[in-house]
Amino acid sequence: MTKISKTDAQWREQLSEQEYQVTRQQGTERPFTGEYWDHTAKGTYRCKCCQSALFTSDTKFDAHCGWPSFYDTLDKTGVTEIRDTSHGMIRIEVRCTNCDAHLGHVFPDGPDPTGQRYCINSVSLDFEDGSLDLLTTAPIPLEAVAAVKALAHWLTTGLPLAFIAPLLGLMLDLPVAGFPWLMGSLLLGTPALSIIGTFGAALTVGLKRGGLLLSLLVLPLYVPTLIFGAEAARRGVEGLPLATPALLLAGISLVSMALLPIAAAACLRINLR
Ligand SMILES: [Zn+2]
Repeated sequence: MTKISKTDAQWREQLSEQEYQVTRQQGTERPFTGEYWDHTAKGTYRCKCCQSALFTSDTKFDAHCGWPSFYDTLDKTGVTEIRDTSHGMIRIEVRCTNCDAHLGHVFPDGPDPTGQRYCINSVSLDFEDGSLDLLTTAPIPLEAVAAVKALAHWLTTGLPLAFIAPLLGLMLDLPVAGFPWLMGSLLLGTPALSIIGTFGAALTVGLKRGGLLLSLLVLPLYVPTLIFGAEAARRGVEGLPLATPALLLAGISLVSMALLPIAAAACLRINLR
């Protein structure tokens, strides 16, 4: 990797005030205030300034000091250690080798196997969730992973919803004769909602602020299911023939279940690259 050098103005533009003070001016965030001091998710910690991978959750430990602490670096060459005599102390400063960002300090009071404690500012780090990488090592194809995720979602949302539909019907004063149709349309339509949601999540998983984009992309895809589902239930309640909306609803669910796991797997492969 070529070493990054940017002007002060460029760093100021890229970083928030606090990020700038800590990473470019050797500042320290207040203990127990950072994002990662008690963060235990599996993944990689990257340099806030240049995104070099610096530490992993595998070597993170709770040092009870209020800053994220690691007993080792991801790669010895990724960080540079510099003797620091500021504030009347002799300490070893830790910097990102690639961009010179101040990360924190390293102390010789860490746990085995290294005995080192890399005491790092949360503000100097970005966390990258490793759960996506775990999927690639799963023993089943990504298409099956997507289908299973959608199934799990449906079993915990759509299916229970269909079963409590009569209760909701009572609360909403719907005629009791319509309850079976309400349940039926939910059972037919909710599988499509689960698999469309799974596809949307696969599409946006690699993006920051993916959540907002997810809603924008996925909401329109829900509309046909909601229209035909509501129509089937309404016709059922009123005793009208409901074959057309019910069949369309089932059709949407079947086509979604057949195609969207494949599309979701393709999105995941692109995101993993
Ligand atoms: Zn860096």
